Amino acid sequence: MTRHAQALVVGGGISGLVCAYALQKAGLEVLLVEASARPGGVLNSVSRNGFLLELGPQSFTGTAQLRSLCANLGIADQLIEAPAKAPRYVLVSSRLKAVPMSPLALFTSPLIDGSTKWALVRDIFGKSVPPEGDESVAAFVRRKFSERLLDRLVGPFVSGVFAGDPEKLSVRSAFPQLHEAESARGSIVRGVLRPAKSKKGPRERPTLNTFREGNETLVRALGNKLASSILLRTRATNVYRQKDGAYHVSLEGSNNDSVSAKSVIFATPTDVTGGLLGQLEPSFKPLLTSVEYAAVAVVSLGYAKKDVSHSLDGFGFLVPRSAGLRILGTVWNSSLFPGRAPDGHTLLTGFVGGATDPAAARLNHEELSGIVHREIAPLLSIQSSPMFSNVTIWPRALPQYNLGHGDRLASIGKNLARFPGLFLTGNYLRGPAIGACAEQALAVAEEVAAVAER
Ligand SMILES: Cc1cc2nc3c(=O)[nH]c(=O)nc-3n(C[C@H](O)[C@H](O)[C@H](O)COP(=O)(O)OP(=O)(O)OC[C@H]3O[C@@H](n4cnc5c(N)ncnc54)[C@H](O)[C@@H]3O)c2cc1C
Repeated sequence: MTRHAQALVVGGGISGLVCAYALQKAGLEVLLVEASARPGGVLNSVSRNGFLLELGPQSFTGTAQLRSLCANLGIADQLIEAPAKAPRYVLVSSRLKAVPMSPLALFTSPLIDGSTKWALVRDIFGKSVPPEGDESVAAFVRRKFSERLLDRLVGPFVSGVFAGDPEKLSVRSAFPQLHEAESARGSIVRGVLRPAKSKKGPRERPTLNTFREGNETLVRALGNKLASSILLRTRATNVYRQKDGAYHVSLEGSNNDSVSAKSVIFATPTDVTGGLLGQLEPSFKPLLTSVEYAAVAVVSLGYAKKDVSHSLDGFGFLVPRSAGLRILGTVWNSSLFPGRAPDGHTLLTGFVGGATDPAAARLNHEELSGIVHREIAPLLSIQSSPMFSNVTIWPRALPQYNLGHGDRLASIGKNLARFPGLFLTGNYLRGPAIGACAEQALAVAEEVAAVAER
């Protein structure tokens, strides 16, 4: 049986859910198909042994759009915020050092040396021009600042956001605000500080959020609004263009064999999107499937509080690759949000793998929890083995905005222009953060709704 919809969204991660919800709100007859048994994609909160675990993202930056989405969904009162001043640490010479959180703190921080401070002064008062071609994050930081800044702060930050390799990530694609700052102002510091000053209205305070019952609250609320418009355990397998210009998408696993829709929004990872769009135009496939992904293992460990001597006052810590450890960093969940661990216990989450250690994701669960425990125990003065552990391996956790990513997206965009009614949304386009995914999905929904009105 072929079902008809004005818009079909393929993939029910946060990008697809937000897009479908916005389309439904705009009055379109929308259908979302999701291959797995639950919506949410990598957003997944579970309760185990009294611990509230996040198997994917641990929290998110509360953007204005996410807050307004939560208000529309009726879940704004369930949002919780991490302590605003929770310090973040970086591991240097086997000790946890607080990360400077403002330009002034950077100047006085012992983490960077005199020559890096000089480079900052040169940047503030001087003028530089970015190179014509794409530049890696590592090359950019070396050119503008120093190897030490790269090793101690930028590299760990890149691990925290992309689980990426700064030698491969494109500064233009991964951190466009830095490239734009240099292009427009000739200075990173002046360029980055300028927009904040010139923005009208009260300055938005960045917050770190989740929900009382975990990130899943957002998924559940979107799922409830979409209700029967979501088909779970339903995989899109083929796509072709009908004579009338609409798209015919074959499905596997549902009562409906196929859907015919004027607009189709692909909210799937690039390998899936490339496979499907490649059936319409072969060049889509290599363009999309060549986006590399980093694998990440998320290791949640529970300890009795009495066995952890460190105060755990803060967000957690990141680890420079030069430290020689396998963990990329650790989030101190029960310090940030209430209800993450039973009374008298502590929940910590470690991340292993990333673009610089692809072999890690092939280790078994016992090895991974062993690595995280062994590496964090001396740093946090932990005196016992964890009383609880949970490991989730994401073989394709995060898309890498590597050198050439911008050109690749431009070519994909050109191809797409030849197929009116086809749209892309997802974490490989405008940033991997949940807020960036939601923002991009809302923008796509607006485009789709505008096309539907014509
Ligand atoms: C370990 C980890 C930690 C993270 N930490 C943070 C963080 O702290 N803060 C933050 O803001 N972000 C974080 N992120 C990033 C963020 O969570 C993701 O970028 C975002 O959730 C991706 O959403 P998405 O909808 O684009 O993709 P996905 O979540 O990958 O969703 C894609 C969906 O498509 C479905 N699908 C695939 N093939 C088909 C098909 N043929 N037919 C139908 N459906 C299909 C999949 O089942 C999946 O549900 C993290 C990500 C990971 C993995």
